[in-house]
Amino acid sequence: TSRFSTLRLAQTNGPFALEAAFRADTDLRKVNLIIGAYRDDEEKPWHLPSVTEAKRRLELGHSHHEYLPLQGSPKFVEVSKQVLFGPKIVQQQQPFLASIQTVSGTGANSLVAMFLEQKHLRPTNIWLLNLTWINHGDIWKVNAPNVSVQWYPYYNDAKRALDFDAMMETLQRNCLEHDTILFHACAHNPTGRDPSQQQWRELAHLCLKKRLFVIFDSAYQGCASGDLDRDAWAIRHFVSHPSIELAVCQSFSKNLGLYGERVGALHLMVHRSNPNGPNLAKAVQNNLIDLQRACVSMAPLFGSRVASEVLGNEDLQQMWKSDLSTMSGRIRAMRSALRDELLKLQTPGSWDHITEQTGMFSCTGLSKEQVEDLQLKHHIYLLPTGRASMCGVTSTNVSYIARAIHEVVS
Ligand code: PLP
Repeated sequence: TSRFSTLRLAQTNGPFALEAAFRADTDLRKVNLIIGAYRDDEEKPWHLPSVTEAKRRLELGHSHHEYLPLQGSPKFVEVSKQVLFGPKIVQQQQPFLASIQTVSGTGANSLVAMFLEQKHLRPTNIWLLNLTWINHGDIWKVNAPNVSVQWYPYYNDAKRALDFDAMMETLQRNCLEHDTILFHACAHNPTGRDPSQQQWRELAHLCLKKRLFVIFDSAYQGCASGDLDRDAWAIRHFVSHPSIELAVCQSFSKNLGLYGERVGALHLMVHRSNPNGPNLAKAVQNNLIDLQRACVSMAPLFGSRVASEVLGNEDLQQMWKSDLSTMSGRIRAMRSALRDELLKLQTPGSWDHITEQTGMFSCTGLSKEQVEDLQLKHHIYLLPTGRASMCGVTSTNVSYIARAIHEVVS
């Protein structure tokens, strides 16, 4: 008999199974509110003009297909730091920073989990947000099996708001020194609710007091407000406390529309007032390279060349900023349109949260049964948790979606 005879089928990842059901649905009215990727007003993937121009320029140059260095493309690593931290922090804190190109945001999350478990810190707990991106729990279980996954309250479903008091209370009471905590830098997936600047200040104080190691997942810089600097505010605020040691998992999937190219970076900043900091940062860098070498050798080349071209040239960077406004502006307009339609129909309940939330996703507050009804009766697909991707809403389908929601909640 085969040694694999007891192996069971792995659970198909929920959103991917739903996507398959959506594709198989032949009804012409069908709407995809599952997607974690930007769509234009015609429900099509959007090629950012800045990226199209960068690719055109790259074709004019001499390209090669050699391996990247183990740390990744030096140019890409440099521009990714600049856009994340801003030139002032990079100039001042460069010696305390270790950076490595990764297989996008997922690769950065996995690498930091592995690094913290295997190389030195060995936290007792990783504190993840309840709710969070569906993959975070698995990433930690697979890559850092000896670190215990703990959940802290983040979102109050009934109030459709951040559960800040419960969050602070749980963390104050339960975090141990050197525990690791994860935050979303902006445009929280799936709730669309981020802490205010005042709340970030309080969280930074708590991390200082409890001596926590902080991880920011930055998958949506520029996609929340449309402004790269504003969306990096929380990260830069934490950096302003020299003794908070932190890592940032940076993805360019969403903000450059380079989903399949797997472009990202992991940055880790050590204590900024430790005289030995620069040597420690070098050791971190070296160990990150060592770990990634064993997993994937080095990150892929093409996407990082496109990203370097866009981020590294003033004119293309300006074009990119305007692309970010286009994407975030369309999503904001669709939020308003959906809320307005629901108000017009006098749909029971309050719908202000749709416009108050930010980024690609909305926790609609629809129940599992209502979500099922939407799918069966109206061919509108969203996650069973009620998370809707606002990218699937267009000026053509918004009134159909509103009428369907009205019917399932009335
Ligand atoms: N982090 C968050 C919060 C996400 O929502 C996603 C993707 O949906 C990722 C990380 C990872 O994306 P990628 O691996 O494509 O960079």
